[in-house]
Parts: sequence; C-alpha cells; structure tokens
Amino acid sequence: MQKNIAVIRGDGIGPEIVEQALKVLNKVADAYSHTFHYDDVDMGGCAIDKWGDPLPEEMLKRCLASDSVLMGSVGGPKWDGVPGHMRPEKGLLRLRAGMGVYSNNRPAKIWPQLAGASPLNPSIVEKGIDFIIVRELIGGVYFGKHETEDKDGQLVATDTMSYSEAEIERIGRIGFETAQKRGKKLCSVEKSNVLDCSRLWKKVMHRLADEYPDVELSDMLVDNCAMQIVKNPAQFDVIVTENMFGDILSDEASMITGSIGMIPSSSLGATTCGLYEPIHGSAPDIAGMDVANPIGTILSAAMMLRFSFDMAREADAIEAAVSAVLDAGYRTSDIMPADPAQAAKYQKVGCSRMGELIIQNLA
Ligand code: NAD
Repeated sequence: MQKNIAVIRGDGIGPEIVEQALKVLNKVADAYSHTFHYDDVDMGGCAIDKWGDPLPEEMLKRCLASDSVLMGSVGGPKWDGVPGHMRPEKGLLRLRAGMGVYSNNRPAKIWPQLAGASPLNPSIVEKGIDFIIVRELIGGVYFGKHETEDKDGQLVATDTMSYSEAEIERIGRIGFETAQKRGKKLCSVEKSNVLDCSRLWKKVMHRLADEYPDVELSDMLVDNCAMQIVKNPAQFDVIVTENMFGDILSDEASMITGSIGMIPSSSLGATTCGLYEPIHGSAPDIAGMDVANPIGTILSAAMMLRFSFDMAREADAIEAAVSAVLDAGYRTSDIMPADPAQAAKYQKVGCSRMGELIIQNLA
C-alpha cells in the first residue's frame, strides 16, 4: 500500500518523538512492503516563527490532502506573549476544526510492566485499568466566543460554551459504538446540575440509549468522575464527554497509568483521514535533551495504521515491540520507578535509544 502522511513535528520535544515514530513506520514499511510518503507540515510555534501564523492555510490544505496526519506537540513559553488568536495551540484547534475530527479517542490502559509506576495504591491498580475516553473535540467552550472587555475600568473576560443536539448526537453515537466493541458499558460525563449544555447532553444520550439496548448507559457528574478515576478506575469501560471535561479527565486518566508519555490518541471525523498525536504537550522542560518518552507517539502511529489504513497486523507488531522492550527492562526516565532499589532493576534509556530498541523488537 502507498500512503501519504502529513507530519507535524511541532515544538519542544515534538521533533525528537516524531523522529522515533517515523523510524518505526519506515521499518514497518520495509517489513510489510508498504510505501509511506511524508510531507513535513509546519504548525505551532515553529510556524509562527517562520510564517507569522500558527497554521498557514497552505499547511492546512496539505493536511487535508493527506491520508492521515501524525503530530508531535506544539507550544512553549517562547510564544506565551503572543495574542490569543495567534497562539501555537490555536493552530491545533484550527487543524482539528479544519479536518472535522470531532471524536478524540484516548485509551487509559495500564501496561502490566508499568503497574509500579502508577501513583495509585497497588490494591486499586491490581483490579485493572482499561478504559477509553471518547472526547468531543471541535465544540464547546474551546470553540466558543472568547473576549476580554473593559467594563467600568475593570477587565471582564467571557468564554461561551455551546452545543447543538447534532454535535452531541454524533459524538454520543461514537461512544455507544465504542462501548459495543468493548465491555458494553458507557458512562456519560457532564455537569447537568449546573450547565444547560450538560442538561441537553444528558437528554440526547438517553434518547440515543434506546437505539443501543446492548449498552448499559450511566450518568456521572464531572467532579465525581474526577474522583472515581482515582478511587475505582476498574468501574469504567467507555467514558463519553464534552471537549473541556474530556481534556482534563484524560490527562488525569493518563497519570494513573504511569506516565503521560505512554498514551496515544486518535481523532476522527466523517472520513478515514485522522489526526494522531500523543496526549502530552511539548514538555519544554526536557526539550532537546533526548530524554522524552517517544512511546505515546509511536503508539499513535500504530493507531493510525489500525484505524485509518486498515493495517491491524502492522499495528499489532508495533504494540508487541513496545511490550517486548518494556519486558526487557528498558525505561525512559518518566517511567523509571522512583524508589532507587526498584529502579536498579531497570535500564534507563533516552528518546532515540528507546526508538531503536522498539525497531529492533519489531518482528
Ligand atoms: P506537557 O504535557 O508538555 O508536560 C507536563 C509534564 O509531563 C512535564 O513535566 C513534561 O516534562 C512531562 N512530559 C510530557 N510529555 C512527556 C514525554 N513524552 N516524556 C517524558 N515526560 C513528558 O504539559 P505542559 O507543561 O502543561 O505544557 C507545555 C506546553 O505544551 C504548553 O505550551 C502547552 O500549551 C502545550 N500543550 C500542547 C499540547 C499539544 O500539542 N497537543 C497538549 C498539551 C499542552
């Protein structure tokens, strides 16, 4: 197969981690007789520096012309001072909206080899952590009106959140369909005791439930969900929620699995052209030091093969190679146990070495 992949290296650790994912994709291409063509696309802070825009129109067009987009991360303190509409993250929001990828899928699964890296009590971890957060990605407060005005000599900031029934219904269906393929339990998370958007959300979810009688639907307030994720994560199979709640809950969920550096994500809309990225940011504190964990990006590439290119065998091979490297005791610093006695059992490696080890273990 021939596939065109738009590659956004981005800022901070982005270029280092994407490099490892491309090495893995090249090895897969060799082993399985595929050809991957890469188109380097500028987005984020680097695009502001080069083009004065976090996502120039031409770059968006190149993403839309690709079979899928693989991305590292964008942003960093260098661009903290730029106006809101020009921030690096605005480029990412515009890319998601431009691609129409309304459904973000973030697995929270503990790798057995990393159970010790979870900050949770072992008695909670041993019950298992394996759930998916389906997050609405191109609506809600992140895409509402944002303004700061001077009212009677005082600055007043306003951000508006809105959701239509249609927006809720299409993400709700993804939630139900994802649950149908897994444990058939869907938890709809909202704040219906306060927000109108959440009351509409709940109403639509319950209307849809009639069409999916094999899925058990439950409701949970977002504040309770934040507590339940650390108290009893084994209760969850699939969580479906709106944009901002999903953003926050999925970062929380990633931490209980050991490290934010391990978690991939896929974002899909009406077509198979998806956006694949690790869930973490550009980690400016460790950028350029060759210590970042590239596994979240490598697993994002595996998701791209599985969900956009229908290459399940190849995706399985990447995931098995990651598992083999962890079995062999290699760890980047974020997944090393904090206890020195425990840490002595493992070998600390950097970002590029981790990439090489995964390639060596690709069957
Ligand atoms: P972050 O995810 O970049 O970092 C949080 C912590 O996790 C840091 O200590 C970092 O060193 C660590 N970390 C993150 N990824 C890691 C990896 N692969 N390996 C090892 N450690 C890792 O979040 P932040 O510090 O809040 O944000 C930094 C910048 O990234 C900001 O400009 C923010 O806006 C941006 N950001 C971008 C995205 C994106 O591109 N999708 C997402 C979130 C944040």
